[in-house]
Amino acid sequence: MATEPLTAYDMTLSDHGFEPLEMKGLTYPLGDHVPQYGEVYPLAPDMGWTRMPVPGNLNHINIWLLSDRDEQGEGYAIADTGLFMPDVIAEWKKLLEGTLSDRRMTRIFVTHFHPDHVGCAGWLANRGKVSIWMNRTEWLMARMLVADQRDEVPNDVLIRRRFSGYSEAQIEDMRVRGFGNFARAVSQMPTGHHRLDDGQHVRVGGRVWQIVTGGGHTPEHACMVDHHNGVIIAGDQILPRITSNVSIMDSEPDADPLGEWLASIAKFRALLPPDMLVLPAHGSPFRGVHTRLDILASGHLERLDRLEAALREKPHRAVDCFALLFDRPIDETVFGLAVGEAMAHLRHLERTGRATVEEIDGVGWFTAD
Ligand SMILES: [Zn+2]
Repeated sequence: MATEPLTAYDMTLSDHGFEPLEMKGLTYPLGDHVPQYGEVYPLAPDMGWTRMPVPGNLNHINIWLLSDRDEQGEGYAIADTGLFMPDVIAEWKKLLEGTLSDRRMTRIFVTHFHPDHVGCAGWLANRGKVSIWMNRTEWLMARMLVADQRDEVPNDVLIRRRFSGYSEAQIEDMRVRGFGNFARAVSQMPTGHHRLDDGQHVRVGGRVWQIVTGGGHTPEHACMVDHHNGVIIAGDQILPRITSNVSIMDSEPDADPLGEWLASIAKFRALLPPDMLVLPAHGSPFRGVHTRLDILASGHLERLDRLEAALREKPHRAVDCFALLFDRPIDETVFGLAVGEAMAHLRHLERTGRATVEEIDGVGWFTAD
């Protein structure tokens, strides 16, 4: 293990020549400058920022490249990987055969099991002959979902969709579309992984990163915190502009993910200093992490209040709650996510004694008194 003293980098990014952008209490030190696909933007001498395309509203995912060193010498580690889709694979090939061609991959960190993060991990690991460093639960989720490739939608999933208020036409539509979409955008994973645990410290090149996990978006989403340089690789745990999806997951239908999410916000709020540079998976690097966490928490708390008031007026199914929870109309492309998120809010009200649920003909009706 290397023991040379660590040098702190100037992570204010004030010398990068961009006009900082102030928006909603957050500061974006690089303004609206973002790397092009195929470009690696140097945030620090030992840290690069690139992006991979994501279809739909999300548009892109940020990928972080960290200078690293292992038994074989110098190289770079990758943090998050992009969807395993033709245009992303093409971008990776360009990078690996271009900008990164004279450097060696050392390992791959993945913040959580969602396809835009883990998608290319297996493919990259195989190509670079390196291992995937990931929280065990997240790893198992990814491995399980890649392996779960049946065509027929499982009956318990259909029962839960009916409980949320899906119409019979929507259930039929689900049946036609089939099951096992996960594997369509995620490459085959290697058999083993290197486990990342909450609180663990990992040295990557000249930096030491503390692994800090959060729940609610996924079971044990791993963030990487470099306290010395004041920077966090936040994945989807702390996003600057959009709110992370917090949904009831089919793998744990009776859980209270929103309760876990709120607890995680409090955990990160207590751990991170206010001036930390946040490297989110979507959007631009920003400062103002306490402001952002407070907005995220109060947004959910306000929605819970609004929801509880509405449940006092009349019983609601999950599908009746969209206008109370979301600012935009919910079309078919986001319907499933919206239902999951509505269920998470309803379930949290139920868990905290603010609502009760009654099942009538397989449909869950929530009320408050
Ligand atoms: Zn995610």
